[in-house]
Amino acid sequence: MTDRIVVVGAGIAGLGAAMALARADREVVVVDRDPPPPPNVETCFDTWERKGVTQLRHSHVFLGCLVTLIRDRHPRLHEMLKKAGAREVDFEESLPLALRDKYTPMNGDRDLAFLFSRRTTLEYTIRAYVETLPGVRFLTSTIVRDLILDKSGPVPAVKGVRIERDGAAPEDLTATDVIDACGRSSILTDWLRERGVTIDEEKSPAGILYFTRHYRLRDGQDEPPRDMIPGAGDLGYIKYGVFNADNRHFSITLAVPEIESELRTATLNPATFDAICNKIPGMARWIDPARAEPVTKVFGMGNLHNVWRHFVKAGAPVVLNYFAVGDSAIRTNPLYGRGCSSAVLHAHILGDVMSATEDACERAIAFDKRTRKEIRPFWDALMKQDLGAIRRAKNEQDPSYKPRLKARLIKSFADDAVGPATRSNLGVLRAIMKGFHMLAMPTAWLTQPTVVLRVLGTWLTPKSKKPYPPKLGPERKEMLEALGLKTA
Ligand SMILES: Cc1cc2nc3c(=O)[nH]c(=O)nc-3n(C[C@H](O)[C@H](O)[C@H](O)COP(=O)(O)OP(=O)(O)OC[C@H]3O[C@@H](n4cnc5c(N)ncnc54)[C@H](O)[C@@H]3O)c2cc1C
Repeated sequence: MTDRIVVVGAGIAGLGAAMALARADREVVVVDRDPPPPPNVETCFDTWERKGVTQLRHSHVFLGCLVTLIRDRHPRLHEMLKKAGAREVDFEESLPLALRDKYTPMNGDRDLAFLFSRRTTLEYTIRAYVETLPGVRFLTSTIVRDLILDKSGPVPAVKGVRIERDGAAPEDLTATDVIDACGRSSILTDWLRERGVTIDEEKSPAGILYFTRHYRLRDGQDEPPRDMIPGAGDLGYIKYGVFNADNRHFSITLAVPEIESELRTATLNPATFDAICNKIPGMARWIDPARAEPVTKVFGMGNLHNVWRHFVKAGAPVVLNYFAVGDSAIRTNPLYGRGCSSAVLHAHILGDVMSATEDACERAIAFDKRTRKEIRPFWDALMKQDLGAIRRAKNEQDPSYKPRLKARLIKSFADDAVGPATRSNLGVLRAIMKGFHMLAMPTAWLTQPTVVLRVLGTWLTPKSKKPYPPKLGPERKEMLEALGLKTA
């Protein structure tokens, strides 16, 4: 009998799983509660109803980890993305103008590439590719209502799902394996827990709310140059970023700390959103009305957490034939732009593991082991970074706060050593960007003596000889007063 794998969720992880698992001798059924995409990238952006993906119209950037995986394992999709208008910007092209003259190519530079695309364009194109893969079919507007679980053996085993289509009576869809790619709101793990399966969870707050607005460049206008004015930054009371996209689109995201209650309510208003951007030089020039026009309202989103779920306990799986991939298993603060890269990597780790062995128990253990090895270090680093940012946002509200020596040293290392070193030295930038793109472990650069010496040397260099960016934007008090908001 042919294996039938049911993938629940046709978001990025579900599509990634279908890409990794598709084989002519296997049936892969991708089930999604939402309707199929409209016929082209613009109507997708304007009208695709995706109740299952609340972040669909938030800014997304895609990292080298995802770009190289698509380029090396799915070359046809790579071409399709380019045709759809997604832009790949490699290491050389993403350099600030000041470093371009110093550039000499090195092996691996091609891998340090961003993919600039609206999330809808990426998803639409991956889906069009997956639809052509052997053995794959989609069940759309179909919601999974339950898991079929066999508890007769020593370890509970999933045997399929119960689906409901267009309000018809629920029906069972049996499967050899079920992939939970239901994203951040997945309740499949809850159903397992209700039946006695112990799934441990680590969870910590991202500490921010996300606000995004999309814009389009006017005819004849270009993006601002890549100079010393950064398109992303952290002012403590607000973080900001410009996200380049496809087909002359870009978006801006403002991340407001949860404790900034007045500011976060105000930011949802498009006029306030643009007023904030206009006070920050790195964004003001992007939204200059002569250059670009807004094309959406401001989208807001909260309830953002770092989450890690464990499906292997004390070396043994807690459930068989069930694999959670992407956000249903691992979530990080969206600000770091890791979610989609991590989800597709996770799905391909699963694909490799399922090809390597037929044994359900071995598969679960190997999947867990490789996930912890290849993805966990990023999760740990980002979770710690968020806890630091939450502390910093709290301190911003306290005018009497005086940082201790350790905090001052950490800040100085970031601002006076790492920052200027990446702005002036290609070797340092390259090493740090490898970790950023998830192509090396996040702290791997700290094990490279030449890079560390450069960074330390920069730390000791007098401030007057180091490249600092211009002031990012106003202090908290000045910004809040300008917006007519209370400062305390
Ligand atoms: C505000 C925000 C901004 C982000 N920005 C970035 C970024 O810049 N770069 C980046 O890489 N990542 C970013 N991310 C993270 C990224 O969006 C997620 O990591 C990614 O979407 C995870 O993919 P997924 O398939 O696991 O979940 P999703 O993409 O959310 O897909 C889940 C799918 O499951 C379906 N589904 C759910 N329940 C059922 C059910 N019972 N039956 C049938 N179908 C079901 C849904 O309809 C949906 O299609 C961001 C996240 C947020 C919240």
